[in-house]
Amino acid sequence: NVRKTFEYRIMRYGEDHLLLIARDVTRVSQLEDMRRDFVANVSHELRTPLTVINGYLELLPNDPQSDPLTSKALKEMASQTLRMRNLIEDLLVLSRIESSAERIYENTVDIPAMLNTIKVEAATLNQNHGHTINYHIDTDIEVFGVETELRSACSNLVFNAINYTPNNGTIDVYWQRHKDGVRFAVRDNGDGIEEKHLNRLTERFYRVDKARSRKTGGSGLGLSIVKHVLNHHNSNLDITSVVGEGSEFAFVLSAELIKQPEVVTE
Ligand code: ADP
Repeated sequence: NVRKTFEYRIMRYGEDHLLLIARDVTRVSQLEDMRRDFVANVSHELRTPLTVINGYLELLPNDPQSDPLTSKALKEMASQTLRMRNLIEDLLVLSRIESSAERIYENTVDIPAMLNTIKVEAATLNQNHGHTINYHIDTDIEVFGVETELRSACSNLVFNAINYTPNNGTIDVYWQRHKDGVRFAVRDNGDGIEEKHLNRLTERFYRVDKARSRKTGGSGLGLSIVKHVLNHHNSNLDITSVVGEGSEFAFVLSAELIKQPEVVTE
């Protein structure tokens, strides 16, 4: 007693006929569910042993005077377990978003307030980079959406700009009214990305420069998370980039998602 899943296509057939093609994708969608559950379960199970390892690492005395090799090993282990923790957290976020049944019209999100908290985190991350970060925010736009998801999408884009732009760059963050709704964008004046990479960037674990990404501690899942969040909010990620000039990562939330101010009648 399996529920069937179909994909439909309607095509014109001759002058006055339409052809409906129904494809049974039940098996494909079952496999997709299994893959998602598997990733979610494994990530969840890896979290506990990693927390224990981390806890013990923090307890060990780390005195470089006593034994340089031990000291180096402890530092490296701490940094690698942190990387692994970030990866697991991102895998969990991704699987949560992929199976998210939360309806976007149930809650509103105060994006400017959310951007204020991202701004504080960005300033901390920026301490090692020295970028000038400008915010151009229209404060009176509230949207329907899932706050945790939109926060994750926006912060990923801002943190990427900070991490991948060579030090002392300029980064502009926009949240502004747009002809089709409201637009969020992060523009940087970094090295830019070659065209051949652009449409692969949102694939899981796709990185332009593996060594560099490893240094940032990124999991390689950031833009994949952004893509899924935007998909859930009926939007897409637009990436434009010019090598040697910089990149812009942007998305538009359609006017339907903007909460209209309540009209007060006397
Ligand atoms: P990561 O964890 O590696 O940062 P992401 O999915 O967030 O993973 O990004 C994928 C890749 O896209 C990065 O490894 C980097 O090569 C590239 N990238 C993302 N944002 C920028 C940017 N603002 N400028 C240049 N390259 C970027």
